[in-house]
Formats: sequence, C-alpha cells, structure tokens
Amino acid sequence: MKRLLSNNLNLIPDSKLFDYFSILKFLYVRKKQTVHEIVGKSKIFEAFWDPLTLGVMNTSSQKASAKILSNVIKKTLLKGEKYCRIYQPKVSWNNSIIDPCIKFLKNNGCEIELRKSLKSIEIEYNHISKLCFSENTIEIDEQDSVIFAIPPTNLSKFFPYSTLPSNYNSIVNIHYNLPKKLKEKISHQIIGFVNSNAHWLFVKDDYLSVTISNANHLNNLDSNKIANIIWSEICSFMNTNHQIPDFQVVKEKKATVEQSPSNFELVKNLNGLPKNLSICGDWTQTSLPCTIEGSILSGKKAVI
Ligand SMILES: Cc1cc2nc3c(=O)[nH]c(=O)nc-3n(C[C@H](O)[C@H](O)[C@H](O)COP(=O)(O)OP(=O)(O)OC[C@H]3O[C@@H](n4cnc5c(N)ncnc54)[C@H](O)[C@@H]3O)c2cc1C
Repeated sequence: MKRLLSNNLNLIPDSKLFDYFSILKFLYVRKKQTVHEIVGKSKIFEAFWDPLTLGVMNTSSQKASAKILSNVIKKTLLKGEKYCRIYQPKVSWNNSIIDPCIKFLKNNGCEIELRKSLKSIEIEYNHISKLCFSENTIEIDEQDSVIFAIPPTNLSKFFPYSTLPSNYNSIVNIHYNLPKKLKEKISHQIIGFVNSNAHWLFVKDDYLSVTISNANHLNNLDSNKIANIIWSEICSFMNTNHQIPDFQVVKEKKATVEQSPSNFELVKNLNGLPKNLSICGDWTQTSLPCTIEGSILSGKKAVI
C-alpha cells in the first residue's frame, strides 16, 4: 500500500513526466473501448488511471467506458487545476442541496409526497393516463407530462419489453470513530490509497470514513471482517497498531449501474416509451458518469 501522491512532489512516486502523456490517448477513443484498452499498459495505470477510473465511474478499468472517462478528462484535467477541485458539502448533502431544493419547490407551488412507491401505470394511446401508488391513483390529463427519475431495474418493471442496464456496482463505506491520539498523525483531509482494499480515506473531526468503489466482491462478506481488514490497512498507513475503534459499515449494493460501453449503448437505444413520459436520473444521460452532477443535468434536460 502506498500513498497516492507524495507530499512534496507533484508527480506520482516512481513516475516520469513522459508517463503522463498517456492522457493524450483519451483524445480519440471509440465508443466500444474500455479504459483498460486505452491505458492498461501505461506505467501509471495502477497508481493513476485505475484509481481515477474507480473514483469517477465506480467501475473497473477493464469494464469502464473509455468514452465517458475521456469526456470527464476533457472537462477537468485538460482544462486545468481549477476544474479539478473536489467539492464536498460543508455540513451535509441535506444542508447543501436537498433542503434548499425542497424549499424552492414548495415556494413554487409543488407538493412533495415522500415514501410513496409507484406500483403500476396505465397507458392509453401511447400516453400514460394513470399513476397507481400503493394508497392512491393519480389521473394524468392528456396535456400533462410525467417524469420518472428511478433506477433502470425499477423502470423495467413498468416497461418489461425494454432492455435496460441490469448490472450494478456497489460502494462500501466504513466509518470509524477517530481516537484523538490518531488524529494528530494525519495531516491531510482526503487521502487516496493504491494497491489496497481501501480506496479513499476522508478525515472528519471525530471520525474517519473509508470508501471502497466497485465493491461487489464485498457484498456478501461479513461487515466485521471488512472493518478489520480496512482497519489494518489504516494502521499500516499510520504506522500504528491501535485497536479497532467503534465502526459502522454501509454497503450500497446498487450504488451505480456498471458504466460499461454496452450499458451506455442500451440507454442510448432506449425507445418506445409513452409520448408524455421523460426519464431522468444519473444513468439516463450517456455522456457523463453516474454522479450527482449527471443526475442534476439529466433532470434539467427532462424539464426542457
Ligand atoms: C455510497 C455512495 C457514494 C457516492 N458518492 C458520490 C460522490 O462522491 N459524488 C457523486 O457525484 N456521486 C456519488 N454517488 C452517486 C450518486 O449518489 C448518484 O449518482 C445519484 O444519487 C443518482 O441520483 P438519481 O436521482 O439519479 O437516483 P437515485 O438517487 O438512485 O434516486 C432514485 C429514487 O427513485 C426512487 N424510486 C425507485 N423506484 C421507485 C418507485 N417505483 N416509486 C417511487 N420512487 C421510486 C428511489 O427510492 C430513489 O429515491 C455515490 C453513490 C453512493 C451509493
């Protein structure tokens, strides 16, 4: 296990400036190519391209669409440092995005109903005419539009004849209480790991959060085991043998769809939906990875 970036140098340890020219290969990629096909042989594959792909696309380089990563690189690395900054909410996502959004919707006359699952729909003359929830049904007038913002496997339940992405990748987060003694040993707020099970370590005031992307191999592994494996990696990084503190493991089994060329192709070819229905959600836009940004942009498109 190595720290991704050395403290004082701007280059990855053991790399040469020449190795970074592999970025140019992303200028021209074909839509069926994977990231591994483009830079699998690069000397900075393991220390840079692979962790970057996992972090951006939650998909292994062997499966991840090179076209999507190429789009990201053009919008970030190739535009300069200002476009590569990490954005994190000051307090929480609720505080930064969700609460202000709910306030805006309510102030503009929208009614929000939570915890109501759509069970079925009725379609007449290629228009959705009824939305049937567990406790009520909403009639849809001819001039009304409907927007679904649900994951592809849930959309498939209403349109079983459509072929949509059905394979997902999980993300596992492990949150540890951070003993004061250890906090003094950490000088960065975000630390990337390579050649390890842990990918990212986020250091908060009184806890540490570890993120593991593309984590389907951990879906069925006991949470205690996961927490212990990762804790031993943290100890090795911090050069300590401190006993494991209290922790919580969160497995999000359907964190994002697998962002492979074939899945993006399925989404692009999706047609035959009712005329008054638009769909949005991170997986519906086919030029960016499945992220909060992608889902917001897809929502904007759906209302135009
Ligand atoms: C652990 C984790 C870490 C992540 N980290 C980042 C990150 O650092 N940066 C980033 O940009 N992105 C991150 N992502 C990805 C990001 O969260 C997603 O891209 C984004 O939330 C997708 O939003 P969405 O609205 O498209 O879909 P979702 O957030 O999946 O929302 C879909 C909604 O549809 C609802 N639904 C489904 N079926 C029905 C039904 N039949 N009736 C009614 N409602 C239904 C679901 O309950 C859900 O609320 C992360 C994801 C996970 C899981």
